[in-house]
Amino acid sequence: MSKIMDKCSLCGRKENEVGMLFSGVDGHICDECIERGHQILMEERKSHDSFSVGDIKLLKPKQIKEFIDQYVIGQEHAKKVLSVAVYNHYKRLSQPATEDDIDIEKSNIIMVGETGTGKTLLARTIAKMLHVPFAIVDATVLTEAGYVGEDIESLLVRLLQAADYDVKSAERGIVFIDEIDKIARKSDNPSITRDVSGEGVQQGLLKLLEGSVVNVPPQGGRKHPEQKMIAVDTKNILFVCGGAFEGIERHIAKRMNTQVVGYGTQKKQEEIDKDNLLQYIIPDDIRKFGLIPEIVGRLPVLTHLSPLDREALKKILTEPKNSIIRQYEKLFKMDKINLEFTDDALEFIVDQAVSFKLGARGLRSICESIMLEAMFDMPSGNKKEFKVDRAYAESKLDKTSAVKFKNAG
Ligand code: ADP
Repeated sequence: MSKIMDKCSLCGRKENEVGMLFSGVDGHICDECIERGHQILMEERKSHDSFSVGDIKLLKPKQIKEFIDQYVIGQEHAKKVLSVAVYNHYKRLSQPATEDDIDIEKSNIIMVGETGTGKTLLARTIAKMLHVPFAIVDATVLTEAGYVGEDIESLLVRLLQAADYDVKSAERGIVFIDEIDKIARKSDNPSITRDVSGEGVQQGLLKLLEGSVVNVPPQGGRKHPEQKMIAVDTKNILFVCGGAFEGIERHIAKRMNTQVVGYGTQKKQEEIDKDNLLQYIIPDDIRKFGLIPEIVGRLPVLTHLSPLDREALKKILTEPKNSIIRQYEKLFKMDKINLEFTDDALEFIVDQAVSFKLGARGLRSICESIMLEAMFDMPSGNKKEFKVDRAYAESKLDKTSAVKFKNAG
């Protein structure tokens, strides 16, 4: 009589049908079942580590910041605030409806800081991390068209396009509204009637920020009156606004001063870092600047971006995962050319960006001017090494480019 073969107690396969069979007190388990079990365990652990909203896997705030750190230099405060805000926003989306009476309110974000300090980059990086649709809209465009009602919706058209017209996916996306300060009321005095256009756009925006169902013309604009509208619910769309708010320091200074005088302590006055007043910004300063109180109320997460100093600009050139210099290196590598920038060439580029007052925005255009000829000639040559030093950079950034950049700034 042949021996009765042992079987895996889980899948039932016999000893000779599996790679290896492990024996326990009361049964057996095969190698494949162990492996499958291991996989399930790992998946389970992963999902405990992060929230999952639909197909969005959400990292913890610290992990979100670590991700942003790979792309954005400095701006520690903004990164922290954004990491928490994004975490809470998507946590809110994962909340089952009316489980208790606590509704987590939507927290749209407003970032204040000079142009070229990384506001758009921050918003874009977060969208990249979450793999959600992302649209950038310039608030000034909304004013120019004049006819308010329709144009505000164009903002959602962009988002729909970014989502390939997948409405569900667009409804969990991120919209970055740039230059929000440009639609501010020009005066502190709400009774002034001359500047109604900005306020009209603000009223229109308010509807979207609050969360409402908006009928969106899929092609945008008014050119196709026959097109079928798409209903988009903005309840779960995260709006991130950015603006330079030029001159807002005056409001901050005034407030800080009166406060300090009010308390009358010498020490407090000394503690104020007058060179970077933006760090003390509060929502009321934004209202004084000319955003209507309702909008300010709908942008509860407020953060600032600091001006970029020389050190930060230099880091921006080389450190981020897709830094400008790395991009040139990659381009040259595709032609099998080893590209190298010397430290003094980098210093020179930073000097120029500082002198043209273009911030980080200027870095790329300066590099483009310096690199143009090399990018034109080298692919047809047979040199395998190329070094950009200060002398070379200086010679390429001639007077024409200098004038050009100066006018741009
Ligand atoms: P803003 O929206 O504040 O005007 P952007 O985010 O559009 O500025 O920045 C313009 C460019 O400058 C970005 O594409 C990026 O290459 C670079 N940049 C700006 N700030 C930073 C930063 N803090 N870290 C890395 N790169 C930056």
